[in-house]
Amino acid sequence: MTSKKTSPATVAAQALGWIDPVTRAVVPPVHPSSTFVRDSDNGYSSGRMYARADCPGYDQPEAVLTELEGGRAAALFASGLAAASAVFLALAPGDHVVIPPVMYWALRHWLLTFATRWGLAVEMVDPTDLDAVRAAVIPGRTKVVWVETPANPLWTVSDIAALAGIAHAAGARLAVDSTVATPVLTRPLALGADIVMHSATKYLNGHSDVVAGALVTGSDDDFWQRIKTNRAQMGGILGSFEAWLLLRGMRTLFARVPLACRSAQTLAERLSTHPNVLEVLYPGLPGFPGHETARRQMIGGFGAMLSIRVQGGAAAAIAAAARVTVWKRATSLGGVESFIEHRATIEGPTSPVPPDLLRLSVGLEAVEDLIGDLTEALDRAPG
Ligand code: PLP
Repeated sequence: MTSKKTSPATVAAQALGWIDPVTRAVVPPVHPSSTFVRDSDNGYSSGRMYARADCPGYDQPEAVLTELEGGRAAALFASGLAAASAVFLALAPGDHVVIPPVMYWALRHWLLTFATRWGLAVEMVDPTDLDAVRAAVIPGRTKVVWVETPANPLWTVSDIAALAGIAHAAGARLAVDSTVATPVLTRPLALGADIVMHSATKYLNGHSDVVAGALVTGSDDDFWQRIKTNRAQMGGILGSFEAWLLLRGMRTLFARVPLACRSAQTLAERLSTHPNVLEVLYPGLPGFPGHETARRQMIGGFGAMLSIRVQGGAAAAIAAAARVTVWKRATSLGGVESFIEHRATIEGPTSPVPPDLLRLSVGLEAVEDLIGDLTEALDRAPG
């Protein structure tokens, strides 16, 4: 470990400056072992018994993430959804939670189906309407206020500090899905949040070759211990090799995210003037409703996700997406390659997503290639 206090970019690049004590390697080994040897006195001096609870490959990525988020501890999960659902499964049936209408659709769906059947009282409230959130929380009964910012796929920006104040006044925790913001752009715990969640599949790993999730906590309390116990007991854990790949991906986070943000800003500005684009949704545009909050809350960029609404409706949007060749028509986000997706096709009729919306995940390609490819595809819409 580096003994000096270093900036987050250095923490990420050097993965906390870890050097293997035996080989002096700068890269850790993959630990595939599922079990660990018991001592002759019947104890476990290594502190590890079985990899479902004690995977050594988690130590370094969890420590890096804890440091980047300024938290007390982190936990890796088999996917972002496993991480998010772990927060709700650490509650008890009868508890009340407040969720936003705009959020990662599959988590919203799980909350409104499984979690509701399991006994959580799930209430959907617009988190940009602070009075509505204040009216929705029930002191003593609301246990979690969940928010995603910027929120998929309309990029709604929510005020973390204000929501933390409202949640805490009611005795609830604020949990933030910060997948799109990444620790490069926003540090929710410093703004008052209690738990940060990442789909590590996205920017943290960054190469579209791992499905993983993570939680970071601001305090190592009973709630956190319940989450950790549930992870070990329910057993949907991340593999050692995936944890190793995730650590490798996180090392370039501070190089990838700012570059992708700059390209997203350029694209948002250029697409705003395209005659076949009705609207560009991007927190970095001054006219965007959440722009001022984003300016206060986000550091050095507004994210690399944006959406456009295409003149001519769903058919025109799908046809435009069919014409690109540099952009890849794929779901997911946060990879080195840029993705385009007609979101309503994925999210279905109950989603708040307009049918003419294309979601863009901006990668690391030359921005002029991305602009040229997309404007050419849009030039022919609606048609
Ligand atoms: N949160 C956000 C903002 C996402 O975009 C996603 C996936 O797209 C998830 C959570 C779920 O993560 P995963 O696919 O890793 O389970």
